[in-house]
Amino acid sequence: MEHAAASTLFEQLRKRLPLDLPPAPHEALACHSPIDGSLLAQLPISSSEAVVHSVAAAHHAWLHWRSVPAPRRGEVVRVFGEILRAHKPALAQLVTLESGKIIQEGLGEVQEMIDICDFAVGLSRQLHGLTIASERPHHRMMETWHPLGVVGVISAFNFPAAVWAWNTALALVCGNAVVWKPSEKTSLTALACHGLLQQALQRCGIDLPHLHQLVFGRADAGAALVAQPLLRLISATGSTAMGRRVAQAAAPRFLRTLLELGGNNAMIVTPSADLDLAVRAILFSAAGTAGQRCTSLRRLIMHASIADALWSRLQQAYAQITIGHPLDDTTLVGPLIDGDALVKMQQRLQQAHREGGHVSGGEVVDAVHGGVYVRPALVRMPGQTTAVREETFAPILYGMTYTQMDEAIAQHNEVAHGLSSSMFTSDIREAELFLSAQGSDCGIANINIGPSGAEIGGAFGGEKDTGGGRESGSDAWKNYMRRATNTINYGHDLPLAQGIRFDLQ
Ligand code: NAD
Repeated sequence: MEHAAASTLFEQLRKRLPLDLPPAPHEALACHSPIDGSLLAQLPISSSEAVVHSVAAAHHAWLHWRSVPAPRRGEVVRVFGEILRAHKPALAQLVTLESGKIIQEGLGEVQEMIDICDFAVGLSRQLHGLTIASERPHHRMMETWHPLGVVGVISAFNFPAAVWAWNTALALVCGNAVVWKPSEKTSLTALACHGLLQQALQRCGIDLPHLHQLVFGRADAGAALVAQPLLRLISATGSTAMGRRVAQAAAPRFLRTLLELGGNNAMIVTPSADLDLAVRAILFSAAGTAGQRCTSLRRLIMHASIADALWSRLQQAYAQITIGHPLDDTTLVGPLIDGDALVKMQQRLQQAHREGGHVSGGEVVDAVHGGVYVRPALVRMPGQTTAVREETFAPILYGMTYTQMDEAIAQHNEVAHGLSSSMFTSDIREAELFLSAQGSDCGIANINIGPSGAEIGGAFGGEKDTGGGRESGSDAWKNYMRRATNTINYGHDLPLAQGIRFDLQ
């Protein structure tokens, strides 16, 4: 199907989304679409003074917001969710135009935002602490949870809206203000999200326009945000290299961090696995989003008895992958984000070849003029070499074999990252072992589904070089609040804990 240039489609979207482009006077951020490379818009880069001003304004708004009852804060998020529902097709198209992910995944991303809003609304009536038995007579102990202050959010290009929504929906019901530094590659999506959130605040009669702020720019703007003393939490999503710098900048002043970094996710396929299911799961996890998910499947550890059969089925399936314009319903794989991503992918494939890998796919495909389109690569490796141990943010799937389960799990856990993992098996012993303390060392471990495509209800994040943060569902909200332990004496004596006596004679 023929499509207009991405820049023309963007102009059409400006009528459906709040995309009031601020003037970009001096230093500007050029926003290109990975679909065809066309220039969508230019945005002003926030100066360090602008970052200081944004955080100060957010802090000022927070002084009011923290006293708004949590269920009323939840009402703002509920209305925001309604606004997202009404704008879902348009916002999904913008996500696709800016990140290059196929429209089905763009729609999924906006749905994820709606889901986390619904979750946060319920949460706004459940921010409860414990009542704890006191060892002293006529005393009561309890925990209370309080808003933190200004939360900084730094996000990556590949989830330009959902990751922010995970953070912001929770941060808002928890009583915080938010300053967001989106990826320099997807800042227009951020502008639209900010505009939609402002609509929710207005509709709810909350006159706090600075409660949510945007900061535009590259690494410098992110670093300037992390440096702000009024910040109480920095939630940063992106590469492990970025997370390391953020952690180092935050450590001297004990700034709380929530780090969601890279992954090098694996799947173990055992002899009893349902291979029909496994092939479908591998296809989505490894080739979907053009391999540009933090949870993308990158390492396939196959039992020697089924490895050849599985690999040849994968080669057949990969040959049928439709690569093309991400707004076409039939497309499964859209463009890489930019030329740099292509260079990194090709260098890694050459390295894998040098290390004994047999590469199929990976070639550039002329799908849409001006964009970078590649055929997802399958690389059969003799073992877990240096190339395999690195995260390459592109559609490369390495295949390796094992014979003993302990060998497979050791290989699985051997890499630096610890985000997501999965096993395909019909053997309950193998499944339970994989989920046990001796199994996967990742923050996410699945059986008979792939490592990508998490639901918002669970806590999301990973261990080791993935940063240790947890976002989204379960009790991740606790990251966005300050816990106070309170002890109340309703008696007439002053007994000390541990029976200590301290009386004047
Ligand atoms: P990136 O690290 O290049 O950039 C991410 C964000 O960090 C951007 O907004 C960037 O401007 C900012 N940044 C870079 N250096 C910074 C610094 N020193 N201080 C403050 N901010 C800085 O990552 P990317 O290319 O946009 O995204 C791909 C990476 O993100 C992959 O490694 C992927 O696995 C990871 N990722 C992780 C998750 C997760 O939840 N674990 C989700 C999405 C992406």
